[in-house]
Amino acid sequence: SLNQSLSEVNGAINVSFEFFPPSTPEMEQLLWSSVRRLEPLKPKFVSVTYGANSGVRDRTHSVIERIQQETQLVAAPHLTLVDASDEELVDLAKQYWQSGIRDIVALRGDLPAGQPKPTRFAADLVRLLRSVADFDISVAAYPEGHPDARNAQADLINLKRKIDAGANRAITQFFFDVESYLRFRDRCVTAGIDVEIIPGILPVTNFTQLKRFAAMTNVALPQWLHQQFSGLEDDPATRQLVGANVAIDMVKVLSREGVKDFHFYTLNRAELTYAICHTLGVRPKVAV
Ligand code: FAD
Repeated sequence: SLNQSLSEVNGAINVSFEFFPPSTPEMEQLLWSSVRRLEPLKPKFVSVTYGANSGVRDRTHSVIERIQQETQLVAAPHLTLVDASDEELVDLAKQYWQSGIRDIVALRGDLPAGQPKPTRFAADLVRLLRSVADFDISVAAYPEGHPDARNAQADLINLKRKIDAGANRAITQFFFDVESYLRFRDRCVTAGIDVEIIPGILPVTNFTQLKRFAAMTNVALPQWLHQQFSGLEDDPATRQLVGANVAIDMVKVLSREGVKDFHFYTLNRAELTYAICHTLGVRPKVAV
């Protein structure tokens, strides 16, 4: 079978799942049912995004805490430096370490509109975290380039700086052009970046929303993707099936190209991520 041949070639596949802090009781319920549904797949870690205002930050902490208390999962908070001083970040890192957190996704964060050019970057946060404790640190990578980057080479050098500062892996921005990811992975190797460049997979169910989001992030939406979703604006059930198909096709190609680690932008939903993992051979362990 496909799964056998993929795992023969690749060995074990590792997955991680990303969630965001819910803002309503309904979304909260959706989050926890998704966490529970995905937990038996034994992800390497689950991460929780971090918003640029303090209300969202507190929600990140409480989701992380509840994951630690109520599940067997390794919880990895995202942390951004844009709106915090070094002193505040050191305090937060110490608190995390004391509460048992060992994994952090370290980011610069997006600048509020109108703010002057930044002088601190994610590499500085990685260095700061390393100075506090021996965290396992993930950083962001951009196969199609970060919107603020001077050019692709400068962006690659920035990733190298983050790894040299002590990051353990990179997780990519989502993408749909698999070739652009594979080329990026090759360029990382050429640049001497020797950590896993983990593809960030975004299972798509709402294409209209995706179009808005992709425009802000420099992610190309290929013509074939537009074609797949066109005419389904009022048909969420079919969109769901098409979205699963698109993502499964992508991970099959990536898997054949030797990718062993996958990060999923779950958007707090379990169905598609679960199906894609199943296809990759990532399934609940049956108790014996
Ligand atoms: P950096 O690595 O610092 O890079 C930012 C830009 O600055 C790049 O263009 C880089 O090339 C450039 N640069 C770096 N150093 C220098 C320098 N010395 N001089 C000039 N230019 C430089 N955002 C959130 O707010 N919360 C989240 O939870 C969150 N999670 C994310 C998870 C993943 C996996 C990814 C891919 C992104 C996430 N983001 C999140 C978005 C991220 O914060 C934004 O993309 C942000 O604009 C850049 O963050 P970074 O860590 O990549 O920054």
